[in-house]
Amino acid sequence: MLNIVLFGPPGAGKGTQSERLIEKYGLVHLSTGDIFRANMKGETELGLLAKSYIDKGQLVPDEVTINMLRSEVLKHHDPKGFIFDGFPRTNNQASALDSFLTETGTEISVMLALEVEESELKVRLKKRAEVSGRADDANPEVIANRIHVYNAETAPVKDFYQEQGKFVSIDGIGSIDEITHRLFEAIDKL
Ligand code: AMP
Repeated sequence: MLNIVLFGPPGAGKGTQSERLIEKYGLVHLSTGDIFRANMKGETELGLLAKSYIDKGQLVPDEVTINMLRSEVLKHHDPKGFIFDGFPRTNNQASALDSFLTETGTEISVMLALEVEESELKVRLKKRAEVSGRADDANPEVIANRIHVYNAETAPVKDFYQEQGKFVSIDGIGSIDEITHRLFEAIDKL
């Protein structure tokens, strides 16, 4: 199986690039942000809980997120692999994912980390707010908090995969096609 963690700060282009990767490699796309938003739209219990964190730019608690992700993975029988987009976001989530995948007889193949500097992220998120309809993209204070949380809690997850020799850094600046090409190259080298 080809199991990819597509990593990067908010606005790095994870969603856009995931679309390209699933098309080329036939993978299942699991975006925890998308799943939370679908639950918010459906006003499920999980959606209401997630909204109270997402609206402030905070992380949804690990236990809730890990359980949700685990049940999503189990919905797919005999997949070619997964793209984990927006997960794991803490070291706790990363080790839970490792033990869970080991139990199911597979493992993460690689973490591809899109690197984009903060000033560019803010420009991209502001642009995205015009079309995404996401409340958390429209509020500069919430954006600043999401970037802060990324630096404090999520960026250290890179070390988790670095220690396993699975970390690959990808320059996230350039045209969408250029970045896709860099990702394809990194995957085809595995
Ligand atoms: P995203 O669409 O990946 O930008 O996620 C939007 C929001 O959903 C984040 O700001 C978090 O509040 C929440 N979220 C998404 N993925 C996770 C995760 N792995 N752990 C905790 N919260 C998450």
